[in-house]
Amino acid sequence: MAESGNIPQFPQAFWRDSVSLPDFPKLNESIKTEVAVVGGGITGITAAYLLSKQGKKVTLIDAGYLLNGVTGHTTAKITAQHGIIYDEFIQHFGQDKASQYYQAGMDAKQFIEDTIETHHIDCDYREEDAYIFTNSNDYVSQLETEMKAYEQLDIPGELTSGMPLDIPVESALKMDKQAQFHPLKYLKVLVDEAVKNGLEIYEQTTATDIEHNKHPSIVTRDGHRINCNYAIQASHFPFYDGGGFYPARMYPERSYIVAVKTPEQFPGGMYINAESPTRSIRSATMDGEELWLIAGENHKTGQGKSTIKYYEALQEFAENKFGISEFVYRWSAQDLTTMDKLPYIGPVTKDEENVFVATGYRKWGMTNGTIAAQLISNRILCKDNPYSELYAPSRFQADPDFRQFTKMNTDVAKHMIRGKLEYTNDNVKDLKSDNATVTRVNGQRTGVYKDKNNELYAVDTTCKHLGCEVNWNSGDRTWDCPCHGSRYSYTGEVIEGPAKEPLNKVDLD
Ligand SMILES: Cc1cc2nc3c(=O)[nH]c(=O)nc-3n(C[C@H](O)[C@H](O)[C@H](O)COP(=O)(O)OP(=O)(O)OC[C@H]3O[C@@H](n4cnc5c(N)ncnc54)[C@H](O)[C@@H]3O)c2cc1C
Repeated sequence: MAESGNIPQFPQAFWRDSVSLPDFPKLNESIKTEVAVVGGGITGITAAYLLSKQGKKVTLIDAGYLLNGVTGHTTAKITAQHGIIYDEFIQHFGQDKASQYYQAGMDAKQFIEDTIETHHIDCDYREEDAYIFTNSNDYVSQLETEMKAYEQLDIPGELTSGMPLDIPVESALKMDKQAQFHPLKYLKVLVDEAVKNGLEIYEQTTATDIEHNKHPSIVTRDGHRINCNYAIQASHFPFYDGGGFYPARMYPERSYIVAVKTPEQFPGGMYINAESPTRSIRSATMDGEELWLIAGENHKTGQGKSTIKYYEALQEFAENKFGISEFVYRWSAQDLTTMDKLPYIGPVTKDEENVFVATGYRKWGMTNGTIAAQLISNRILCKDNPYSELYAPSRFQADPDFRQFTKMNTDVAKHMIRGKLEYTNDNVKDLKSDNATVTRVNGQRTGVYKDKNNELYAVDTTCKHLGCEVNWNSGDRTWDCPCHGSRYSYTGEVIEGPAKEPLNKVDLD
């Protein structure tokens, strides 16, 4: 936690700093299980909880530590108000499917509420109205159209010119009775409950592939195998594609969050603006005191400006609008958007019915991750789920936004070529401490970070996913890939996939 009103030197998420989580061992042998879950975020943990409760033998692995992925770095609004989306969904998918999307979100909220009640979970759960607000004329008319979509779909809400939060707005669209919580306090109890039901957990265990004999077999980086009847990829980005072309059908977008104390009392409600740059606002409670969480400044991963600038922009917004009495935390994270903006939840391909994916939540994973866990668990338990067809990843052929699809792939090609041709020859000797540069070592593009003790860490900047060149993220001190969003620590270890292998180290001597 930071000590003053200045931007904290290192990123740290409030959620992770306010909960202590148990440790689990690394997998050191090959094992057999009924259901193997890869990924300990909201999707994997909820699925493991649901399946273990029904008597399934479940094993969960995580490449790092539980809840240290996007779920540990979220904003944690539980809402079906996923931006201005319902009119678009009615146009693309029809009224029934748009209505199902809303209902799925509200069912997920109900599930979270019921689970909290069942296990008496103290996780700061609070029902709040959600608002999309705007000060731009373009978006005023879009909010009016979206309101018509709410009416068509029977979504309780209203268009208003004022909100409980005291900032100037031209127009705001309210969705009634949404919610917020502390996601890690909630999920920690689900972990405890699932472990009581027999769930086995292994941390620092990276899945690299799935092989098929009679059943799927998950291969780990250390060469062990998890033989199972069902494999759930709850790894945010699917590590196993199965020919489903996932890298080409999604793109990653990063956002930043600051947690500050202000002299003002938070008036209730959860807020997000319609225009760019995004400003998303909610409150949280820290040791009985109020924290204001302000998020935004989205950009495609690895393609932004110096990342500390994004935090500064949020700081300036918070300072101007509310005043900052203490700057407590800052952190950032990324999520994936599919080409038609609906998540992919279900079998990885039509031919592999017992290998599942759950991805592409478009920064709305508290509801979408919960829906995914329910949908996949139902399939494994041979129960119907009303939303299977809506989220089926095999709807690929029907992606309506083909232009966007083509643009994103052109973008990948552009970054792959630009990274290779870029001329960089900075002198490592001139590098200041806690800074990084890109240089050439024996002709190879090399990223070098000098830590506070003047220790140098040099890595080959070729991303291990598809070979694009990673860029330095000064805010988080990571190497980020502009193509599909893989992220590496300054030592080259994978922090976020789709890459599964660390960057090669480079000898500077
Ligand atoms: C800035 C930001 C704000 C957000 N705010 C909200 C919000 O207000 N409301 C909302 O609903 N959603 C929000 N979201 C989205 C939501 O947080 C995510 O969609 C959700 O947390 C994703 O959960 P997950 O379980 O799919 O992935 P994760 O939480 O990322 O979990 C995946 C896990 O898999 C592990 N893993 C990855 N690859 C492997 C591998 N090969 N082998 C083993 N393990 C692996 C990772 O280590 C990780 O622990 C936000 C997202 C961002 C980026």
